[in-house]
Amino acid sequence: MAKHIFVTGGVASSLGKGLTASSLGRLLKCRGLRVSIQKLDPYINVDPGTMNPFEHGEVFVTEDGGETDLDLGHYERFIDENLSRDSNATTGSIYQTVLAAERRGDFLGRTVQVIPHITDEIKRRITRLAADDVDVVITEVGGTVGDIEILPFLEAIRQFRNDIGRNNVCYVHVTLVPFIGPSGEQKTKPTQHSVTELRSRGIQPDAIVCRSEAPVPDSLKAKISNLSDVPLQGVVNAVDAKHLYEIPLMLHDEGLDDEVCRILGLPGEADLSAWQALVARVDASTRPVRIGVIGKYVSLPDAYLSVAEALRHAGYHHGAAVDVDWIQAEDVEGLLADGRLRDLDGIVIPGGFGERGIAGKVAAAGYARDHDIPCLGLCLGMQVMTVEFARNVLGLTGANSSEFDPRSPHKVIDLMDAQREVVDMGGTMRLGVYPATLVPGSKVAAAYGRELVYERHRHRYEFNPRYRSRFEGSGFVCSGVSPDNRLVEFIELDDHPFWVGTQAHPEFKSRPDRPAPLFRELIGAALERADGRRPRLPQLDAVALGGT
Ligand code: GLN
Repeated sequence: MAKHIFVTGGVASSLGKGLTASSLGRLLKCRGLRVSIQKLDPYINVDPGTMNPFEHGEVFVTEDGGETDLDLGHYERFIDENLSRDSNATTGSIYQTVLAAERRGDFLGRTVQVIPHITDEIKRRITRLAADDVDVVITEVGGTVGDIEILPFLEAIRQFRNDIGRNNVCYVHVTLVPFIGPSGEQKTKPTQHSVTELRSRGIQPDAIVCRSEAPVPDSLKAKISNLSDVPLQGVVNAVDAKHLYEIPLMLHDEGLDDEVCRILGLPGEADLSAWQALVARVDASTRPVRIGVIGKYVSLPDAYLSVAEALRHAGYHHGAAVDVDWIQAEDVEGLLADGRLRDLDGIVIPGGFGERGIAGKVAAAGYARDHDIPCLGLCLGMQVMTVEFARNVLGLTGANSSEFDPRSPHKVIDLMDAQREVVDMGGTMRLGVYPATLVPGSKVAAAYGRELVYERHRHRYEFNPRYRSRFEGSGFVCSGVSPDNRLVEFIELDDHPFWVGTQAHPEFKSRPDRPAPLFRELIGAALERADGRRPRLPQLDAVALGGT
């Protein structure tokens, strides 16, 4: 039977509960255990698919087309397992199931209540991950202890220990130990209060992960241990890390996996050699490379979390430290004059919805095409590259996506016929993994090293096949198509170092030790541009100073 670990958070949100859960999952995998992991989100939305990225960050897409919380991206990157939509449940989806059962009459006229009906459904969601081939299920409970919405979840995980036996469940609580400047001290009181709140719900934590800016000394750990009834070896410190991938090693040094495995009676030792090698590679990745990401939500980089991680992974492959220049799409036209785009080594145009910022993205795609700047377009990014090429190379005045101009004379990006009639916001997208066949000899095929690839999708609009032959006659290569040849999935230019777009989101499948091929090639091309450009800079300075 699978063992269960529950990760809760206290004091403040954004403490890195998801990274703690992911890191613990990685450590358990390093001990030879088979791990599955999920997130329970207390908000009412049925899934994050329709939520504003400004509020919620990126929507992470699973292989089976689940639109999920961005923590699932951390889980996949750390644990290196593809998860499914079942790894994310919200209050909304839980109520939806219970209410549907109520409408069907499944409750036979009984009163339907939070306890036991909602809590039973929460427990069912937890248990469904405990397949025969799983040794440990990690369940992260979103939100913060003390929130109103979290109560049914705490009640469900409290009951869970009694249901499946004390030795099969471990509670890990992540808290903050803040540094109070004027007194020059780290404070344990917020942790005490948050543990008290958890215990008032009947949950005694087995381990406490103290997040802090500076290391928490043993004397404070002893105080926390004493006040919260957690053995000293269960009080571990997660001090701010240089980079995410260090966190598993830090938590291991603090003894978290040993303590959790002791509680759950799981044997074994962690073999961290592969992860240590990864961290060594990250630490040695210092070649500078500057990539502009032209987006609409750039003031909240979490909105592009998987894109940023995929860029970093690609950097590690090349020994490069990727410096992301977050560029507001609406500002691009102004920034062109300032040389901000000229100074980039590469450009990414990420996915998005809605018209705001489109003109800037089109301008960036055109600037990259004209100036040989490596450019990768992701989903909407590929669509704006197509629009740019149509307008400026094919001369199709007014070319656009029907998403932005339904009356455009040249809808080079359009809805497929079957989608026209459907209006449900949640139900009309092409979601999840789809195959594409790549054109032999193309840049994309060379990047993947294969001719059949599977990438994840999340979009409504497609390259309009009626325009395909016009594009293909002008150096624009449809270098990957759906196996039935109806949908264009990858595009590229013949005579450009790297101007590649994909209708998919390859960033979701990138792993720290296995970068997504197109990101890897983008960074490769960007480094070549950087190498070619930097030696020329002194000459430019000399010209500016009137020296030559
Ligand atoms: N808005 C575009 C579409 O729906 C692109 C979506 C995306 O970039 N994920 O097709």
